[in-house]
Amino acid sequence: MSDLSPPEWDLSLLYTPESRELKNDLHILNQKREAFVSFRELLDQRAPTPEEFGNLVRQLESISLLTGRLSAFACLWFSENTSDQKASSFLSSMDQLSAEINNDILFFELWWKKLNPEAAGSLRKTLPEYDYFLTNIRAYVEHTLTEPEEKIINLKDVTGREALLSLYDTLTNRYQFDSSFIPEGDGRPLNREQLSVYFRSHKPELRAGAYRSLYRIYSQDGPILGQIYQALVRDFSLENLRLRRYPSPIGVRHKYNDLPQETVASLLRVCQAKSQAIFGRYFHKKAQVLGLPGLRRCDLYAPLAEDKRQWTFEEGLDLVVSCFKDFDPQMGRLALNVAQSRHLDAQIRANKRSGAFCYSLDPQSVPWVMMTYNGRRNDLFTLAHELGHAVHSQLAGANNYFQFQACLPLAETASTFGEMILAAHLKRKARTEDEKLGLSFMMLDDAYATVGRQAFFALFEIKAHELIEAGATVDELSEAYWANLKAQFGQALEIPEDFRWEWVSIPHIFHTPFYVYAYSFGQLLVYSLWRIFEKEGSALTGRLLKLLARGGSAPPLALAAEAGLGPLDDEFWSNGFEVIESFLF
Ligand SMILES: [Zn+2]
Repeated sequence: MSDLSPPEWDLSLLYTPESRELKNDLHILNQKREAFVSFRELLDQRAPTPEEFGNLVRQLESISLLTGRLSAFACLWFSENTSDQKASSFLSSMDQLSAEINNDILFFELWWKKLNPEAAGSLRKTLPEYDYFLTNIRAYVEHTLTEPEEKIINLKDVTGREALLSLYDTLTNRYQFDSSFIPEGDGRPLNREQLSVYFRSHKPELRAGAYRSLYRIYSQDGPILGQIYQALVRDFSLENLRLRRYPSPIGVRHKYNDLPQETVASLLRVCQAKSQAIFGRYFHKKAQVLGLPGLRRCDLYAPLAEDKRQWTFEEGLDLVVSCFKDFDPQMGRLALNVAQSRHLDAQIRANKRSGAFCYSLDPQSVPWVMMTYNGRRNDLFTLAHELGHAVHSQLAGANNYFQFQACLPLAETASTFGEMILAAHLKRKARTEDEKLGLSFMMLDDAYATVGRQAFFALFEIKAHELIEAGATVDELSEAYWANLKAQFGQALEIPEDFRWEWVSIPHIFHTPFYVYAYSFGQLLVYSLWRIFEKEGSALTGRLLKLLARGGSAPPLALAAEAGLGPLDDEFWSNGFEVIESFLF
């Protein structure tokens, strides 16, 4: 069995701790940084020639690339073994170094933002391959304040916004949840991660108990957490609407995602119109299959009969790679490349970082993938997801360092598409109707959690920002959240009163306003692509690969249009919902 167990990666292919290569690269990085800083004087005195400008941008790229490479090693080394103190101290020293380097090179960005439009335009034209990177920095000019104002905001953020966020994190990370709902438990309290395992329990009373335990604490602290949220929203609106003159709170996020307001409005409109009916039918069917009189909120992620099938790592990798290959040979080859390059760590090991990820260092290197492979169906999907990311970044390898990573709304395209390919294959091969139904329900749970749920969070945030601007109390915010849940589920689910406080338990809403809609965007985009694939077959392949190969080298809508996709309007998003319906019927 041992030679068939999941592989470990070989991080020494990147660096080894204490090695000469590592010391050498740190030394080179410091030299490059000093050389770059010496340009500062030139920029203070006069505009650079096109040659000097090209040189500057390329030097900046090579500094960023080397910093990225060293930081990646620090992060991967630590992920391998989170109890390794040397790894942990190297990680903090790299964090420190990256922060210092960012400060040192910041002058370039500030100078570039301040340069007059004509001069900037003609310099930009001399470097067409960096166009999106350079344009993007200047896109914030109209929302940038004067240097002293920016400095004051930075300083006051540390004791303002950031202090509030760390207060929220400290309070909520300390929560211990009562475990007395577990009959065979030892009575010791659970942290949130341990508690959330019970949301997917086979036993209805354990699911209900876990949610009760979760919201007992959050509703107790709801008024305090809600006050923190009010202060954060007021700070956000003061800074971004009054001072920076963004058109709306959500408009700040649109700018960052480089998406037009109308595209996201259309996405949320369609989610709002379709969610209740489509997911409502799913919940109804799920209750029937589970033999429940009706579905309660706590049964939402209840599993069907357990799928006991196991796949050895070899079988799992073969399966995922062959599914990718059937879609496109290059995709299969690039997925396999990760394992063959020994960049895949799927071993079951103590002290590994939890969760799964794909780390893309730079356009030229094969990405690194970490997960824990237990041989269950879920692990096949994790493998397909992370290898999908790895395929994406290898396809985008022709772009420069600043533009090879896809922007947030497109970042999950290949990973989610990879899961769809695998799901379709497993469904075709399913041996029993139950197996097929289990797969469909898994896809629907995922669709609800990523599309429906996240879109309604975003809708709540829009409402909450309006209400707080108008002076609403914390109880009024909870009331608005309750109305949001009612609009989302209608009569399809029975929701206990304590779910009024669910919103204070969602860190994204506090930390990164309106971030959540990118989840719905990405997932629904892939479903819509899947709809085209079902209708047109291999005609989609080339367009999808083209989209992936462009990485993050242009605004998301421009890339979609180039690949012949879109417009991203109501009809496009509705096609995505048709795919969700097709999982069930
Ligand atoms: Zn992902």
